[in-house]
Amino acid sequence: MNAVSRQIRPGRRQPLLSVSHLTKAYGRTLGCEDISFDLFPGEIIAIVGESGSGKSTLLNCLSGQMVPDKGSVVYAMQDKGPTDVLTLKEPERRRLMRTDWGLVHQNPRDGLRMAVSAGGNIGERPMGLGARHYGDIRNEAQDWLTQVEIDLSRTDHHPKTFSGGMQQRLQIARILVTRPRLVFMDEPTGGLDVSVQARLLDLLRGLVMNIGVAVVLVTHDLSVARLLAHRIIVMRRGNIVETGLTDQVLDDPHHPYTQLLVSSVL
Ligand code: ADP
Ligand code: MG
Repeated sequence: MNAVSRQIRPGRRQPLLSVSHLTKAYGRTLGCEDISFDLFPGEIIAIVGESGSGKSTLLNCLSGQMVPDKGSVVYAMQDKGPTDVLTLKEPERRRLMRTDWGLVHQNPRDGLRMAVSAGGNIGERPMGLGARHYGDIRNEAQDWLTQVEIDLSRTDHHPKTFSGGMQQRLQIARILVTRPRLVFMDEPTGGLDVSVQARLLDLLRGLVMNIGVAVVLVTHDLSVARLLAHRIIVMRRGNIVETGLTDQVLDDPHHPYTQLLVSSVL
């Protein structure tokens, strides 16, 4: 590996997620290769790199949407401790996805139920976890609509009547309502206008910091990483070329590829 690793190893804290030697190829095309890193509770890590560098492949393998060819993804499960999620049976994996984990899609349509009201979209996860009291569920849904700046008069409206930015905010509320410990996001602001992006990023930042959720965020946009992430992993052709604290990597990039990425946006 030719990585310039400046990763800081925090004390004796146990990682929430420990990724080792993750590799995935599509026939002869490399998706990602020999990816290893740890993620700590409450930490936000951004995976950056240009299109085709393997970011989505890595995220899909981490979040259990794709089976890698090699490697392990060990998660500190609340009930049974560190467990390679790749060995979980399908019902266990789905339970994890409904409780401790969340996935924010780039396209909110992939993460929302378009024929269900906004309030219903938010209430679904608490109900899946056993909430039954209609009034409580509705109150919680409305509390989250407020947090993501959606007017309460829209509670019973379907998300298909919402703007792209509102849909994305609704998707985020739908995931965060159950206070997951780990959320995966693939280009969460990718499909939005620049003016809408900035506001959404501010909001997202406040919410994730507030809850203390750990996030694996995929973005090709270094300004998104700058705003949200504690640490950055730079990928190129399926490999990690550089990793470190966000400010270090962006202000003082060591690898020529990272230098190129940074200089192209300044
Ligand atoms: P990124 O998210 O950084 O744009 P991807 O993970 O989507 O990168 O792609 C990494 C590499 O894997 C690219 O060369 C891409 O063409 C290839 N790839 C991604 N998905 C598939 C697929 N389903 N079938 C074949 N090749 C794929
Ligand atoms: Mg991608």
